Amino acid sequence: MSPQTIITERLNKVRQQGLARTIRTVSGTGPHTVFDDQQVLLLCSNNYLGLAEHPALKEAAIKAVQQSGNSSSASRLVSGSLPLHDQLEEAVASWKGTEAALIFNSGYAANTGIISALAGKGDLIFSDRLNHASIIDGAMFSGAKLIRYPHNDTNTLAQLLAKHETNGLRLIVTDTVFSMDGDLAKLQQLTRLAKEHNTLLMVDDAHGSGILAEEGRGCCHLLGEQGGVHLLMGTFGKALGSFGAYLATSHLIRDYLINRARPLIFSTSLPPSVLAASMAAIKLVRSDEGAQLRHKLTDNISFFRNSLSDQGFSIPHSPTPIIPLIIGDPELTMSFSAQLLEQKIWVQGIRPPTVPAGTSRLRCTVMASHSKTDLQTAAVTIGNIGRKLGII
Ligand code: PMP
Repeated sequence: MSPQTIITERLNKVRQQGLARTIRTVSGTGPHTVFDDQQVLLLCSNNYLGLAEHPALKEAAIKAVQQSGNSSSASRLVSGSLPLHDQLEEAVASWKGTEAALIFNSGYAANTGIISALAGKGDLIFSDRLNHASIIDGAMFSGAKLIRYPHNDTNTLAQLLAKHETNGLRLIVTDTVFSMDGDLAKLQQLTRLAKEHNTLLMVDDAHGSGILAEEGRGCCHLLGEQGGVHLLMGTFGKALGSFGAYLATSHLIRDYLINRARPLIFSTSLPPSVLAASMAAIKLVRSDEGAQLRHKLTDNISFFRNSLSDQGFSIPHSPTPIIPLIIGDPELTMSFSAQLLEQKIWVQGIRPPTVPAGTSRLRCTVMASHSKTDLQTAAVTIGNIGRKLGII
């Protein structure tokens, strides 16, 4: 059989399972965007504060290009850091209240790089079952033993920690805000367990950073647990409206990762425009304007959660903008998404392997830039289609 035939057969299998994916083109990340030549309401972006189109970030990026060019042209270990790399790391450390910070090219690069650098053969990684794929991949790349605990089940985690000892290193790793469910990790219990069991604790605050706590410091600060977290990872590509990722941590761990994290060592570092936009984003989320945007977002989140509940959906309480409507069947989920698009509302259906089998869903996300009318219209339309499809 030719390689092309083998690939065709494998792709057909994905299609037969109702799990085929395609990439659609939209004109932007604002609340009203053009999709397939029609204006739609965007209800599935992580641009929670609307910073992706904020003038301050655009101006910072343009100025950086004019001053420093388009590219960093090599890994920082080959041709050095730009001043913007150092300034951004200082800004992150000051924002998160840690000794040091390290910039990565993306959240995926950060998680795979950090975890595979820290852990190796003989080490143990304890990972929440609903953690992001980049965490799982990092654990797999590391060669350490991966022990997955049931979602947010800290009692089982305690038993697993008591049972699995090693002479090597042990690492607990969790999303703070679970990316497909929008619920929060039990950080109080996790920091206590990490301390009791002499274990490192790493958190991925991709969906908490910028939107939770004062100055958008994120989930650890919201829950008052920043002191017990050894590695605080977050991304610039969601609420921060830019691109890339960071780790806020100690000098020791930063120095170690510079020597061991392969995506940092072997990849061209972020360009000036992106670094400058991220700097502007941190300044913005820490400002009064940032506080106002978070206020608007919080208001929109509770409005949309209530509007969906009024339509008959069961919506658990959470302070996050991620609201999953669990459908179960992947094809029904995609049909729901397609019918919403006919009504000019764009919500992506999420299916395995992104979420566990049987839990396909519409993942709705609220932005500060949505109007109440946008959200009310969306809730009513979702309710009407949900009733037609027998989901509510
Ligand atoms: N962690 C979580 C929880 C995420 O949701 C994502 C993005 N989907 C990532 C990491 C990866 O971040 P990036 O998009 O910057 O690679």
